[in-house]
Amino acid sequence: MASIETVQGPVDAAELGVTLIHEHVRFRDEGVAEQWPGCYDDEAEMQAALEQVNNAAEHGVKTIVEPTAMFGGRDVEFMRRVCDQTGVRLVPCTGIYTYDYLPHYFANRSEDQMAEHFVADIERGIQDTGIKAGFLKCAADEPGVTPNIEKVHRAVARASIQTGAPIMAHSRPASETGPRQLEIFVEEGVDPGKVQIAHTGDTDDLDYIERVLDTGAWIGLDRYGLEMFLPMDRRNATTLELLRRGYADRLFLGADFCATIDWFPQEAAEGLVEAGLIRPDWSMTLVFEQVLPKLREEGDFGDETFQRVFVDNPQRWLTS
Ligand SMILES: [Zn+2]
Repeated sequence: MASIETVQGPVDAAELGVTLIHEHVRFRDEGVAEQWPGCYDDEAEMQAALEQVNNAAEHGVKTIVEPTAMFGGRDVEFMRRVCDQTGVRLVPCTGIYTYDYLPHYFANRSEDQMAEHFVADIERGIQDTGIKAGFLKCAADEPGVTPNIEKVHRAVARASIQTGAPIMAHSRPASETGPRQLEIFVEEGVDPGKVQIAHTGDTDDLDYIERVLDTGAWIGLDRYGLEMFLPMDRRNATTLELLRRGYADRLFLGADFCATIDWFPQEAAEGLVEAGLIRPDWSMTLVFEQVLPKLREEGDFGDETFQRVFVDNPQRWLTS
């Protein structure tokens, strides 16, 4: 069977085991962290990451797909320490996480020149470590697919064509970005079966979701706990309906949890929880502790479906 690149090196796809498809061991702006390191507590960040990953391991998780790209503070040495101390594998990515902005460096270079950077991460290794990226990442959000976002998508597509690496695309269903993102990949010659449209579960508009699925792409129902986008009961109803419609082999469940994230000062982050916009139990284990019991209670989510969603699908997408 094909092998998959992880922080610990290539592994046989069959060995991935129970896999979380979209969780972050740390999310912070590398520019701010580089310029004002005193605003960050590296040790506390490491402890938070270890706690979350160890908790996930207690639920049988063997591998976590970690989609932190440029502007999320991707740091494979940090990831390597998490792996070493937990025994859990991480699959790192390459790409750019932006909703529009590009640094002058990339604004003044072509799609092909941008793609060369992604290819280097996939073929030679990330940040001079020899740790290779297992997939490509890009994003489209509220501003939509702007010229800069289109450029990143084309670069990601070309790197995928060149290397065979699959693609995870952050999307915003409220702006209907998914179909447009797929259109660009297809124009570049990418098979939609290699593409995962992350955050598709932020909507319960089944017509929209099926428009994405009908292309042959994968979807992430991967933001459980982020009530601001869609509350849990509506996420569950959507998941169960998609299972009823036979899409168990095209979807992923997750929380898009960040063991630490620097987007808000602490009071504001606590305010989001108090206001009910983020669940207080948002975590890497939320899916196991709150979601799966409900899915089993309210519908049909047996062992076979679990195996498909948490073991087979990650292998199939990562080796697609
Ligand atoms: Zn994410």
